[in-house]
Amino acid sequence: MSIPKNIAWVQERIRNSAMRAGRDPRDVTLMAVSKTFPAERIREAYEAGLRDFGENRVQEFAGKAEALRDLGDACWHMIGHLQSNKAGKAAELFHSVDSVDSLKLAERLNEAAGRADKKLSVLIEINVAGEAAKSGVAPDSPELEQFLSGVSQLESLQVNGLMTIPPFFDDPEIARPYFRRLRELRDQIAGRNMTRIGMTVLSMGMSHDFEIAIEEGSTCIRVGTAIFGERARKT
Ligand SMILES: *Cc1c(COP(=O)(O)O)cnc(C)c1O
Repeated sequence: MSIPKNIAWVQERIRNSAMRAGRDPRDVTLMAVSKTFPAERIREAYEAGLRDFGENRVQEFAGKAEALRDLGDACWHMIGHLQSNKAGKAAELFHSVDSVDSLKLAERLNEAAGRADKKLSVLIEINVAGEAAKSGVAPDSPELEQFLSGVSQLESLQVNGLMTIPPFFDDPEIARPYFRRLRELRDQIAGRNMTRIGMTVLSMGMSHDFEIAIEEGSTCIRVGTAIFGERARKT
């Protein structure tokens, strides 16, 4: 299948799941996760109408960004684990870091954004199931409280919401409670009206489970395989 056809098919499934949940499909952003794919594939997805792209490695994206400079209205998101020592480069390259998982990283990003005289959008990554192998802040933890009060002091960051990767199940229906959990956490934080902490974005749902995530309130799905095809296996 071609990239434009894959995108059309994903968009139809977005419409259907939004309808089932009584939601407006326009409230769900389709982010194309282009990691491992070359700049030309990203351009095809752009030409098919997508504007949000997710990458998970700073170095890999730095190379592609050169070739895609002319796509002025594209929005580049960092969605992978980011080490604090790469915060400077990430703040330069990306419009949004959707995988902020520690206050230390948030502070580094804030410094870098301040130096570049820009406001950097960020999402807080939540480890909804407390999986040892995944990064993210634990819900209902002292760390989350510290994180929230710390990040609300950082003047060059704008927090826009939460992001999560739930555990993988062959049957995505089983992930539903984790998606619901993230939405509840979002509503709870939003109700506290903290400075510089907006909660409009709920980034959840990938190729195999985005329909369930949309039914549970996702406003941004991150889709790689269903748009670009299978990624080459890591060697
Ligand atoms: C790779 C990746 C995705 C996309 O996964 P697919 O299953 O290919 O849709 C989404 N989110 C994150 C954080 C990823 O690393």
